[in-house]
Amino acid sequence: MSFAASVLTLYPEMFPGALGLSLAGRALEAGTWSLEAIQIRDFATDRHRTVDDTPAGGGAGMVMRADVLSRAIDHASPPGDPRPRLLMSPRGKPLTQARVRELAAGPGAVILCGRFEGIDQRVIDARGLEEVSVGDFILSGGEPAALVLLDAVVRLLPGVMGNAVSGEEESFENGLLEHPHYTRPQEFEGRPIPDVLISGNHKKIAVWRRAEAEKLTKERRPDLSAAAQPLVK
Ligand code: SAH
Repeated sequence: MSFAASVLTLYPEMFPGALGLSLAGRALEAGTWSLEAIQIRDFATDRHRTVDDTPAGGGAGMVMRADVLSRAIDHASPPGDPRPRLLMSPRGKPLTQARVRELAAGPGAVILCGRFEGIDQRVIDARGLEEVSVGDFILSGGEPAALVLLDAVVRLLPGVMGNAVSGEEESFENGLLEHPHYTRPQEFEGRPIPDVLISGNHKKIAVWRRAEAEKLTKERRPDLSAAAQPLVK
């Protein structure tokens, strides 16, 4: 069973975009996942195919209409669709590797991309949308956020990454940032590769990498869970 993504957007041409290349692109071609980009405007009913209107209560910008969006959502995700319905939103829960793993283990996702000031609150409530943020900054639309989320999910689908082990050792998978990497040449501008890494002693290398990961995490991201625990001796 492959992962089925349906993206609701005013800019379907942005998809698959970067996800049509490299690992994700090959997996898309192989049918490991599927992507349907749905034009929200097709669900407008007036002559001008209006999708937005001025905010109730006044203020700057425009708001996407609940009636148009709900029709688009109901088309993409009829009742009984087991896929979670996500709304890309800076007000959402920040996306984590743990949530990415959950999504990758599921049947797919229906992803709504906002534009303008955002979308009418009533469609969020009425369709049970889960708001997901990709960080504490404002994008001009939900499309790049949806591409980020899908990239993170697709690389975890079975068979997408050549070497499955490398996924498990990545930053965040164990509550730690990853240790630094080195490769040839042996010396670069007077900087050698740390001795331990060319010692051939795999036990020592593992201990060194773990210590480096813990040090880095403590310095940069003391909020990550494993960093809050005492160093393993
Ligand atoms: N007025 C809103 C921002 C609207 S930005 C506010 O202040 O909260 C327009 C659209 O871009 C949003 O509806 C959302 O879909 C998307 N977007 C912007 N920043 C985002 C982020 N950090 N994460 C996920 N989606 C984001």
